[in-house]
Amino acid sequence: MKHTVDGAREAFSTGRTLPLTWRRQQLEGLERMLSECGEEIREALSQDLGKSSAESQLTEVLSVRSEIRHTARSLRKWTRPRRVRTPLTLGMASAAVQREPLGTVLIISPWNYPVHLLLMPLVGALAAGNTVVLKPSEMAPAVSALMARRIPEYLEPEAVVVVEGGADETTRLLEQPFDHIFFTGGSGVASIVMSAAAKHLTPVTLELGGKSPAWVDGSADLKEAAESIVWGKFTNSGQTCVAPDHVLSTPELAEPLGKEISRAIIRAYGTDPQQSGDYGRIVNERHARRLAALLEQDSGRALIGGDVDVAGRYVSPTVLLDVPEDAAVMEEEIFGPILPIVTVADHRAAIEVINSRPKPLALYAFTRDAQVRADFVERTSSGGLAFNTVMTQLAVPALPFGGVGPSGMGRYHGEYSLQTFSHERAVLRKLPGPDPTRLVRAPVGRRVRRLL
Ligand code: NAD
Repeated sequence: MKHTVDGAREAFSTGRTLPLTWRRQQLEGLERMLSECGEEIREALSQDLGKSSAESQLTEVLSVRSEIRHTARSLRKWTRPRRVRTPLTLGMASAAVQREPLGTVLIISPWNYPVHLLLMPLVGALAAGNTVVLKPSEMAPAVSALMARRIPEYLEPEAVVVVEGGADETTRLLEQPFDHIFFTGGSGVASIVMSAAAKHLTPVTLELGGKSPAWVDGSADLKEAAESIVWGKFTNSGQTCVAPDHVLSTPELAEPLGKEISRAIIRAYGTDPQQSGDYGRIVNERHARRLAALLEQDSGRALIGGDVDVAGRYVSPTVLLDVPEDAAVMEEEIFGPILPIVTVADHRAAIEVINSRPKPLALYAFTRDAQVRADFVERTSSGGLAFNTVMTQLAVPALPFGGVGPSGMGRYHGEYSLQTFSHERAVLRKLPGPDPTRLVRAPVGRRVRRLL
Protein backbone atom coordinates (compact mmCIF):
# COMPACT_ATOMS: atom_id res chain seq x y z
CA MET A 1 0.00 0.00 0.00
CA LYS A 2 2.84 2.34 0.90
CA HIS A 3 4.45 1.76 -2.49
CA THR A 4 1.15 2.42 -4.31
CA VAL A 5 0.37 5.62 -2.44
CA ASP A 6 3.99 6.82 -2.70
CA GLY A 7 3.79 6.35 -6.48
CA ALA A 8 0.71 8.58 -6.69
CA ARG A 9 2.42 11.13 -4.42
CA GLU A 10 5.50 11.19 -6.61
CA ALA A 11 3.36 11.75 -9.69
CA PHE A 12 1.76 14.72 -7.96
CA SER A 13 5.07 16.15 -6.80
CA THR A 14 6.36 16.41 -10.40
CA GLY A 15 3.78 19.17 -10.93
CA ARG A 16 2.48 17.67 -14.17
CA THR A 17 -1.11 17.50 -12.92
CA LEU A 18 -1.24 21.27 -12.52
CA PRO A 19 -1.79 22.46 -16.14
CA LEU A 20 -5.39 22.44 -17.31
CA THR A 21 -4.29 20.49 -20.40
CA TRP A 22 -3.33 17.48 -18.23
CA ARG A 23 -6.63 17.65 -16.35
CA ARG A 24 -8.58 17.86 -19.61
CA GLN A 25 -6.66 14.89 -21.04
CA GLN A 26 -7.62 12.78 -18.03
CA LEU A 27 -11.27 13.80 -18.31
CA GLU A 28 -11.21 12.96 -22.02
CA GLY A 29 -9.65 9.59 -21.21
CA LEU A 30 -12.42 8.86 -18.72
CA GLU A 31 -15.07 9.86 -21.23
CA ARG A 32 -13.45 7.60 -23.85
CA MET A 33 -13.37 4.70 -21.41
CA LEU A 34 -17.09 5.11 -20.71
CA SER A 35 -17.90 5.19 -24.39
CA GLU A 36 -15.56 2.42 -25.62
CA CYS A 37 -16.12 0.03 -22.70
CA GLY A 38 -19.89 0.64 -22.49
CA GLU A 39 -20.77 -2.97 -23.29
CA GLU A 40 -18.33 -4.39 -20.69
CA ILE A 41 -19.61 -1.97 -18.06
CA ARG A 42 -23.24 -2.95 -18.65
CA GLU A 43 -22.25 -6.64 -18.53
CA ALA A 44 -20.41 -6.20 -15.20
CA LEU A 45 -23.37 -4.30 -13.71
CA SER A 46 -25.71 -7.02 -14.85
CA GLN A 47 -23.51 -9.65 -13.15
CA ASP A 48 -23.16 -7.75 -9.88
CA LEU A 49 -26.64 -6.29 -9.50
CA GLY A 50 -28.81 -7.67 -12.31
CA LYS A 51 -29.14 -4.13 -13.66
CA SER A 52 -30.83 -3.77 -17.02
CA SER A 53 -28.86 -2.24 -19.82
CA ALA A 54 -31.09 0.87 -19.93
CA GLU A 55 -30.83 1.42 -16.17
CA SER A 56 -27.04 1.01 -16.23
CA GLN A 57 -26.74 3.43 -19.10
CA LEU A 58 -28.91 6.09 -17.45
CA THR A 59 -27.87 5.90 -13.81
CA GLU A 60 -24.24 4.81 -14.07
CA VAL A 61 -22.77 5.88 -17.40
CA LEU A 62 -24.67 8.89 -18.76
CA SER A 63 -24.68 10.62 -15.38
CA VAL A 64 -20.87 10.49 -15.22
CA ARG A 65 -20.46 11.50 -18.87
CA SER A 66 -22.66 14.51 -18.32
CA GLU A 67 -20.59 15.45 -15.24
CA ILE A 68 -17.40 15.17 -17.31
CA ARG A 69 -18.78 17.46 -20.02
CA HIS A 70 -20.12 20.01 -17.54
CA THR A 71 -16.78 20.05 -15.70
CA ALA A 72 -14.62 20.25 -18.83
CA ARG A 73 -16.72 23.16 -20.14
CA SER A 74 -16.39 25.16 -16.92
CA LEU A 75 -12.89 24.15 -15.86
CA ARG A 76 -11.18 27.39 -16.86
CA LYS A 77 -13.78 29.51 -15.09
CA TRP A 78 -13.74 27.41 -11.91
CA THR A 79 -9.94 27.39 -11.61
CA ARG A 80 -9.37 31.07 -12.43
CA PRO A 81 -8.16 33.14 -9.45
CA ARG A 82 -11.15 35.00 -8.01
CA ARG A 83 -10.24 38.61 -7.26
CA VAL A 84 -11.60 40.03 -4.01
CA ARG A 85 -11.69 43.61 -2.72
CA THR A 86 -9.06 44.73 -0.26
CA PRO A 87 -9.79 47.21 2.58
CA LEU A 88 -8.59 50.80 2.16
CA THR A 89 -6.49 50.38 5.28
CA LEU A 90 -4.12 48.15 3.28
CA GLY A 91 -3.45 50.88 0.73
CA MET A 92 -2.63 49.62 -2.76
CA ALA A 93 -3.00 45.84 -2.76
CA SER A 94 -4.56 43.09 -4.79
CA ALA A 95 -6.07 39.91 -3.36
CA ALA A 96 -7.40 36.72 -4.90
CA VAL A 97 -8.68 33.30 -3.95
CA GLN A 98 -6.70 30.69 -5.85
CA ARG A 99 -7.87 27.07 -6.02
CA GLU A 100 -4.96 24.65 -5.81
CA PRO A 101 -5.02 20.84 -5.81
CA LEU A 102 -4.77 19.08 -2.47
CA GLY A 103 -2.29 16.41 -3.54
CA THR A 104 -3.07 12.69 -3.43
CA VAL A 105 -6.63 11.81 -2.51
CA LEU A 106 -8.36 8.54 -1.65
CA ILE A 107 -11.84 7.72 -2.98
CA ILE A 108 -13.64 4.78 -1.33
CA SER A 109 -16.90 3.72 -2.95
CA PRO A 110 -19.82 1.38 -2.21
CA TRP A 111 -21.41 -1.36 -4.32
CA ASN A 112 -24.88 -0.04 -5.15
CA TYR A 113 -23.87 2.30 -8.00
CA PRO A 114 -20.35 0.93 -8.30
CA VAL A 115 -19.45 2.82 -11.49
CA HIS A 116 -21.17 6.14 -10.80
CA LEU A 117 -20.04 6.44 -7.17
CA LEU A 118 -16.43 5.62 -8.04
CA LEU A 119 -16.11 7.87 -11.09
CA MET A 120 -18.28 10.88 -10.15
CA PRO A 121 -15.89 12.01 -7.39
CA LEU A 122 -12.94 11.07 -9.62
CA VAL A 123 -14.08 13.70 -12.16
CA GLY A 124 -13.81 16.43 -9.52
CA ALA A 125 -10.54 15.11 -8.09
CA LEU A 126 -8.87 15.10 -11.52
CA ALA A 127 -10.37 18.43 -12.57
CA ALA A 128 -8.84 19.95 -9.43
CA GLY A 129 -5.42 18.53 -10.44
CA ASN A 130 -4.97 15.78 -7.84
CA THR A 131 -3.58 12.29 -8.15
CA VAL A 132 -6.00 9.66 -6.95
CA VAL A 133 -6.16 6.26 -5.29
CA LEU A 134 -9.50 4.57 -6.02
CA LYS A 135 -10.92 1.82 -3.81
CA PRO A 136 -13.99 0.25 -5.45
CA SER A 137 -16.30 -2.02 -3.47
CA GLU A 138 -15.44 -5.71 -3.22
CA MET A 139 -19.17 -6.43 -3.11
CA ALA A 140 -19.49 -5.51 -6.79
CA PRO A 141 -16.57 -7.73 -7.90
CA ALA A 142 -17.20 -7.65 -11.65
CA VAL A 143 -17.20 -3.84 -11.73
CA SER A 144 -14.23 -3.64 -9.37
CA ALA A 145 -12.15 -5.97 -11.60
CA LEU A 146 -13.21 -4.11 -14.74
CA MET A 147 -12.24 -0.73 -13.29
CA ALA A 148 -8.88 -2.09 -12.11
CA ARG A 149 -8.19 -3.37 -15.63
CA ARG A 150 -9.49 -0.49 -17.74
CA ILE A 151 -8.71 2.68 -15.76
CA PRO A 152 -4.90 2.37 -16.20
CA GLU A 153 -5.44 2.00 -19.96
CA TYR A 154 -7.33 5.27 -20.28
CA LEU A 155 -5.91 7.44 -17.49
CA GLU A 156 -2.33 8.12 -16.53
CA PRO A 157 -1.51 4.95 -14.53
CA GLU A 158 0.89 6.66 -12.09
CA ALA A 159 -1.67 9.35 -11.32
CA VAL A 160 -4.82 7.24 -10.93
CA VAL A 161 -4.35 3.94 -9.13
CA VAL A 162 -7.03 1.36 -8.39
CA VAL A 163 -6.66 -0.74 -5.24
CA GLU A 164 -9.11 -3.63 -5.05
CA GLY A 165 -10.22 -5.31 -1.84
CA GLY A 166 -12.49 -5.17 1.20
CA ALA A 167 -12.14 -4.17 4.84
CA ASP A 168 -8.58 -5.53 5.29
CA GLU A 169 -7.12 -3.82 2.24
CA THR A 170 -8.98 -0.58 3.03
CA THR A 171 -7.71 -0.66 6.62
CA ARG A 172 -4.13 -0.93 5.36
CA LEU A 173 -4.74 1.77 2.79
CA LEU A 174 -6.10 4.06 5.50
CA GLU A 175 -2.80 3.76 7.42
CA GLN A 176 -1.19 5.78 4.62
CA PRO A 177 -1.29 9.57 4.70
CA PHE A 178 -3.64 11.20 2.16
CA ASP A 179 -4.48 14.82 1.49
CA HIS A 180 -8.20 14.12 1.42
CA ILE A 181 -10.44 11.08 1.84
CA PHE A 182 -13.74 10.95 0.00
CA PHE A 183 -15.88 8.11 1.35
CA THR A 184 -19.31 6.92 0.21
CA GLY A 185 -20.97 4.18 2.24
CA GLY A 186 -22.60 3.41 5.57
CA SER A 187 -22.17 5.36 8.81
CA GLY A 188 -20.47 2.46 10.66
CA VAL A 189 -17.57 2.29 8.23
CA ALA A 190 -17.59 6.10 7.94
CA SER A 191 -16.61 6.42 11.59
CA ILE A 192 -13.75 3.90 11.06
CA VAL A 193 -12.59 5.99 8.09
CA MET A 194 -12.83 9.23 10.04
CA SER A 195 -10.86 7.79 12.99
CA ALA A 196 -8.11 6.60 10.63
CA ALA A 197 -8.09 10.01 8.91
CA ALA A 198 -7.79 11.77 12.28
CA LYS A 199 -4.39 10.11 12.87
CA HIS A 200 -2.97 12.06 9.91
CA LEU A 201 -5.31 15.08 10.32
CA THR A 202 -6.67 14.28 6.88
CA PRO A 203 -9.90 16.07 5.95
CA VAL A 204 -12.79 13.84 4.92
CA THR A 205 -15.94 14.04 2.85
CA LEU A 206 -18.52 11.48 3.97
CA GLU A 207 -21.40 10.64 1.66
CA LEU A 208 -23.71 8.48 3.77
CA GLY A 209 -27.30 7.31 3.77
CA GLY A 210 -30.27 7.09 6.12
CA LYS A 211 -34.04 6.96 5.91
CA SER A 212 -35.24 9.44 3.26
CA PRO A 213 -38.98 10.10 3.66
CA ALA A 214 -41.53 11.13 1.01
CA TRP A 215 -44.61 13.10 2.08
CA VAL A 216 -47.70 12.80 -0.13
CA ASP A 217 -50.83 14.90 0.52
CA GLY A 218 -54.31 15.17 -0.96
CA SER A 219 -53.39 18.13 -3.18
CA ALA A 220 -50.88 16.04 -5.13
CA ASP A 221 -51.59 14.22 -8.38
CA LEU A 222 -51.65 10.71 -6.89
CA LYS A 223 -50.93 8.92 -10.15
CA GLU A 224 -47.93 11.14 -10.90
CA ALA A 225 -46.68 10.80 -7.33
CA ALA A 226 -47.04 7.01 -7.47
CA GLU A 227 -45.16 6.75 -10.80
CA SER A 228 -42.35 8.88 -9.45
CA ILE A 229 -42.10 7.02 -6.13
CA VAL A 230 -42.09 3.64 -7.89
CA TRP A 231 -39.25 4.73 -10.16
CA GLY A 232 -37.23 6.14 -7.24
CA LYS A 233 -37.88 3.24 -4.89
CA PHE A 234 -37.64 0.19 -7.14
CA THR A 235 -34.84 1.23 -9.51
CA ASN A 236 -31.85 -0.94 -8.52
CA SER A 237 -34.26 -2.85 -6.23
CA GLY A 238 -34.35 -0.01 -3.72
CA GLN A 239 -30.58 -0.08 -3.18
CA THR A 240 -30.22 3.65 -3.75
CA CYS A 241 -29.08 6.10 -1.09
CA VAL A 242 -31.57 8.77 -2.24
CA ALA A 243 -34.50 6.37 -2.81
CA PRO A 244 -37.62 7.25 -0.82
CA ASP A 245 -37.20 4.93 2.17
CA HIS A 246 -40.83 5.25 3.30
CA VAL A 247 -43.92 7.31 2.56
CA LEU A 248 -45.68 9.55 5.08
CA SER A 249 -49.31 10.29 4.34
CA THR A 250 -52.70 10.79 5.99
CA PRO A 251 -54.90 7.84 7.09
CA GLU A 252 -57.52 8.63 4.35
CA LEU A 253 -54.92 8.71 1.61
CA ALA A 254 -52.77 5.72 2.60
CA GLU A 255 -54.91 3.02 0.95
CA PRO A 256 -55.72 4.86 -2.33
CA LEU A 257 -52.06 5.90 -2.62
CA GLY A 258 -50.92 2.32 -1.89
CA LYS A 259 -53.23 1.04 -4.64
CA GLU A 260 -51.96 3.68 -7.08
CA ILE A 261 -48.36 2.67 -6.26
CA SER A 262 -49.27 -1.02 -6.75
CA ARG A 263 -50.72 -0.23 -10.20
CA ALA A 264 -47.58 1.72 -11.11
CA ILE A 265 -45.44 -1.27 -10.02
CA ILE A 266 -47.40 -3.56 -12.34
CA ARG A 267 -47.09 -1.07 -15.20
CA ALA A 268 -43.31 -0.91 -14.64
CA TYR A 269 -42.45 -4.56 -13.96
CA GLY A 270 -45.55 -6.65 -14.85
CA THR A 271 -47.38 -8.99 -12.49
CA ASP A 272 -44.28 -11.15 -11.97
CA PRO A 273 -41.30 -8.78 -11.55
CA GLN A 274 -38.94 -11.76 -11.17
CA GLN A 275 -39.41 -12.35 -14.90
CA SER A 276 -38.98 -8.68 -15.83
CA GLY A 277 -35.71 -7.75 -17.52
CA ASP A 278 -36.06 -4.28 -15.99
CA TYR A 279 -36.08 -5.37 -12.35
CA GLY A 280 -32.69 -5.77 -10.62
CA ARG A 281 -31.41 -8.10 -7.93
CA ILE A 282 -30.25 -7.70 -4.33
CA VAL A 283 -26.46 -7.46 -4.16
CA ASN A 284 -25.95 -10.74 -2.28
CA GLU A 285 -27.77 -13.45 -0.30
CA ARG A 286 -26.87 -11.85 3.04
CA HIS A 287 -28.73 -8.68 2.12
CA ALA A 288 -31.65 -10.70 0.65
CA ARG A 289 -31.91 -12.53 4.00
CA ARG A 290 -31.78 -9.21 5.88
CA LEU A 291 -34.74 -7.94 3.84
CA ALA A 292 -36.63 -11.23 4.28
CA ALA A 293 -36.17 -10.88 8.05
CA LEU A 294 -37.63 -7.35 7.91
CA LEU A 295 -40.74 -8.74 6.20
CA GLU A 296 -41.09 -11.63 8.64
CA GLN A 297 -41.27 -9.29 11.61
CA ASP A 298 -44.51 -7.49 12.34
CA SER A 299 -44.07 -4.84 9.68
CA GLY A 300 -47.65 -4.34 8.48
CA ARG A 301 -49.88 -5.64 5.68
CA ALA A 302 -48.36 -6.21 2.22
CA LEU A 303 -50.63 -4.59 -0.34
CA ILE A 304 -48.43 -5.94 -3.11
CA GLY A 305 -45.27 -8.08 -3.10
CA GLY A 306 -43.68 -9.66 -0.04
CA ASP A 307 -42.04 -12.47 -2.07
CA VAL A 308 -38.43 -13.36 -1.43
CA ASP A 309 -36.13 -15.85 -3.18
CA VAL A 310 -32.88 -15.64 -1.22
CA ALA A 311 -30.90 -17.94 -3.53
CA GLY A 312 -32.07 -15.90 -6.54
CA ARG A 313 -31.27 -12.63 -4.65
CA TYR A 314 -34.80 -11.52 -5.43
CA VAL A 315 -37.19 -9.46 -3.30
CA SER A 316 -40.37 -8.38 -5.05
CA PRO A 317 -41.50 -4.73 -5.04
CA THR A 318 -43.43 -4.54 -1.77
CA VAL A 319 -45.81 -1.92 -0.38
CA LEU A 320 -46.72 -2.12 3.31
CA LEU A 321 -49.78 -0.56 4.96
CA ASP A 322 -50.80 -0.44 8.65
CA VAL A 323 -47.15 -0.28 9.68
CA PRO A 324 -46.78 -0.36 13.49
CA GLU A 325 -44.87 2.60 14.94
CA ASP A 326 -42.13 0.36 16.34
CA ALA A 327 -41.82 -1.83 13.21
CA ALA A 328 -38.29 -2.95 12.31
CA VAL A 329 -38.70 -1.44 8.82
CA MET A 330 -38.97 1.98 10.48
CA GLU A 331 -35.75 1.63 12.47
CA GLU A 332 -32.91 1.31 9.97
CA GLU A 333 -32.42 2.37 6.38
CA ILE A 334 -34.30 -0.30 4.36
CA PHE A 335 -31.99 -0.23 1.31
CA GLY A 336 -34.23 -2.64 -0.57
CA PRO A 337 -37.56 -2.77 -2.43
CA ILE A 338 -39.86 -2.50 0.61
CA LEU A 339 -41.98 0.64 0.87
CA PRO A 340 -43.86 1.23 4.14
CA ILE A 341 -46.66 3.82 4.05
CA VAL A 342 -46.85 5.37 7.50
CA THR A 343 -49.83 7.50 8.49
CA VAL A 344 -49.76 10.84 10.29
CA ALA A 345 -52.51 13.44 10.90
CA ASP A 346 -51.20 16.12 8.52
CA HIS A 347 -48.03 17.63 7.05
CA ARG A 348 -47.11 19.30 10.35
CA ALA A 349 -47.24 15.92 12.08
CA ALA A 350 -45.11 14.52 9.23
CA ILE A 351 -42.57 17.29 9.83
CA GLU A 352 -42.53 16.41 13.55
CA VAL A 353 -41.82 12.76 12.71
CA ILE A 354 -39.06 13.80 10.28
CA ASN A 355 -37.50 16.13 12.85
CA SER A 356 -37.58 13.46 15.54
CA ARG A 357 -35.25 11.28 13.43
CA PRO A 358 -31.69 11.75 12.14
CA LYS A 359 -31.48 14.32 9.33
CA PRO A 360 -32.04 12.45 6.05
CA LEU A 361 -29.94 12.57 2.89
CA ALA A 362 -33.00 13.36 0.77
CA LEU A 363 -36.48 14.59 1.61
CA TYR A 364 -39.38 14.53 -0.83
CA ALA A 365 -42.82 16.13 -0.74
CA PHE A 366 -45.62 15.65 -3.25
CA THR A 367 -47.96 18.59 -2.86
CA ARG A 368 -49.43 21.52 -4.75
CA ASP A 369 -49.91 23.51 -1.57
CA ALA A 370 -47.50 26.47 -1.33
CA GLN A 371 -47.84 26.65 2.47
CA VAL A 372 -46.87 22.98 2.78
CA ARG A 373 -43.85 23.61 0.56
CA ALA A 374 -42.83 26.63 2.65
CA ASP A 375 -43.17 24.59 5.86
CA PHE A 376 -40.95 21.83 4.46
CA VAL A 377 -38.32 24.38 3.40
CA GLU A 378 -38.36 26.30 6.68
CA ARG A 379 -39.00 23.62 9.29
CA THR A 380 -36.96 20.63 8.16
CA SER A 381 -33.33 19.92 7.38
CA SER A 382 -31.92 17.32 4.99
CA GLY A 383 -29.09 16.86 2.49
CA GLY A 384 -31.46 17.78 -0.35
CA LEU A 385 -35.17 18.60 -0.70
CA ALA A 386 -37.25 17.94 -3.82
CA PHE A 387 -40.92 18.63 -4.52
CA ASN A 388 -43.10 16.48 -6.78
CA THR A 389 -40.18 14.36 -7.98
CA VAL A 390 -37.63 11.95 -6.54
CA MET A 391 -33.92 11.55 -7.22
CA THR A 392 -33.87 14.04 -10.09
CA GLN A 393 -32.18 16.63 -7.86
CA LEU A 394 -29.03 14.70 -8.79
CA ALA A 395 -29.54 15.57 -12.43
CA VAL A 396 -29.02 19.29 -11.85
CA PRO A 397 -25.26 19.77 -12.21
CA ALA A 398 -25.24 23.12 -10.43
CA LEU A 399 -26.83 21.68 -7.25
CA PRO A 400 -24.60 20.35 -4.48
CA PHE A 401 -25.02 16.72 -3.48
CA GLY A 402 -24.31 15.63 0.08
CA GLY A 403 -25.83 14.96 3.46
CA VAL A 404 -26.11 16.85 6.72
CA GLY A 405 -25.54 15.48 10.22
CA PRO A 406 -25.71 11.67 10.18
CA SER A 407 -26.38 11.60 6.41
CA GLY A 408 -22.93 12.97 5.70
CA MET A 409 -20.53 15.87 5.65
CA GLY A 410 -19.30 17.81 2.64
CA ARG A 411 -20.78 17.96 -0.83
CA TYR A 412 -19.85 17.39 -4.45
CA HIS A 413 -21.00 17.48 -8.11
CA GLY A 414 -19.99 20.18 -10.58
CA GLU A 415 -18.22 23.14 -9.05
CA TYR A 416 -18.83 21.75 -5.55
CA SER A 417 -16.57 18.79 -6.47
CA LEU A 418 -13.84 21.15 -7.55
CA GLN A 419 -14.19 22.98 -4.25
CA THR A 420 -14.07 19.71 -2.29
CA PHE A 421 -10.88 18.56 -3.97
CA SER A 422 -9.10 21.95 -3.88
CA HIS A 423 -7.58 24.17 -1.27
CA GLU A 424 -8.85 27.73 -1.58
CA ARG A 425 -5.72 29.68 -0.99
CA ALA A 426 -5.62 33.34 0.01
CA VAL A 427 -3.10 35.22 -2.12
CA LEU A 428 -2.38 38.86 -1.26
CA ARG A 429 0.01 41.18 -3.09
CA LYS A 430 1.00 44.55 -1.72
CA LEU A 431 1.50 47.08 -4.52
CA PRO A 432 3.97 49.99 -4.43
CA GLY A 433 2.57 53.11 -2.81
CA PRO A 434 1.61 54.48 0.60
CA ASP A 435 1.18 51.80 3.25
CA PRO A 436 -1.38 52.80 5.91
CA THR A 437 -0.58 49.65 7.93
CA ARG A 438 2.67 51.41 8.98
CA LEU A 439 0.55 53.66 11.20
CA VAL A 440 -0.41 50.78 13.45
CA ARG A 441 3.01 49.13 13.52
CA ALA A 442 5.34 49.85 16.46
CA PRO A 443 6.81 52.32 17.13
CA VAL A 444 4.45 54.44 14.99
CA GLY A 445 1.58 52.36 16.41
CA ARG A 446 2.43 53.60 19.92
CA ARG A 447 2.21 57.19 18.71
CA VAL A 448 -1.17 56.61 17.07
CA ARG A 449 -2.49 54.88 20.19
CA ARG A 450 -1.33 57.80 22.32
CA LEU A 451 -3.27 60.18 20.04
CA LEU A 452 -6.49 58.13 20.38
P1 NAD B 1 -20.04 0.15 3.36
O1 NAD B 1 -19.85 1.28 4.29
O2 NAD B 1 -20.21 -1.21 3.88
O3 NAD B 1 -18.78 0.05 2.33
C1 NAD B 1 -18.26 1.16 1.66
C2 NAD B 1 -16.78 0.94 1.40
O4 NAD B 1 -16.08 0.77 2.61
C3 NAD B 1 -16.46 -0.27 0.54
O5 NAD B 1 -15.51 0.10 -0.43
C4 NAD B 1 -15.88 -1.26 1.52
O6 NAD B 1 -14.90 -2.10 0.96
C5 NAD B 1 -15.25 -0.38 2.58
N1 NAD B 1 -15.24 -1.01 3.90
C6 NAD B 1 -16.12 -1.92 4.39
N2 NAD B 1 -15.81 -2.24 5.67
C7 NAD B 1 -14.70 -1.53 5.98
C8 NAD B 1 -13.88 -1.44 7.16
N3 NAD B 1 -14.17 -2.15 8.25
N4 NAD B 1 -12.84 -0.62 7.14
C9 NAD B 1 -12.57 0.11 6.04
N5 NAD B 1 -13.29 0.05 4.90
C10 NAD B 1 -14.34 -0.76 4.87
O7 NAD B 1 -21.24 0.61 2.46
P2 NAD B 1 -22.03 -0.22 1.40
O8 NAD B 1 -22.76 -1.33 2.07
O9 NAD B 1 -21.13 -0.54 0.27
O10 NAD B 1 -23.10 0.89 0.91
C11 NAD B 1 -24.33 1.06 1.54
C12 NAD B 1 -24.41 2.34 2.33
O11 NAD B 1 -23.88 3.42 1.59
C13 NAD B 1 -25.85 2.74 2.64
O12 NAD B 1 -25.94 3.23 3.95
C14 NAD B 1 -26.14 3.85 1.65
O13 NAD B 1 -27.14 4.74 2.03
C15 NAD B 1 -24.81 4.50 1.57
N6 NAD B 1 -24.67 5.20 0.29
C16 NAD B 1 -24.58 6.56 0.28
C17 NAD B 1 -24.50 7.22 -0.93
C18 NAD B 1 -24.35 8.71 -1.01
O14 NAD B 1 -24.02 9.20 -2.09
N7 NAD B 1 -24.59 9.47 0.02
C19 NAD B 1 -24.47 6.50 -2.11
C20 NAD B 1 -24.58 5.12 -2.05
C21 NAD B 1 -24.67 4.48 -0.84
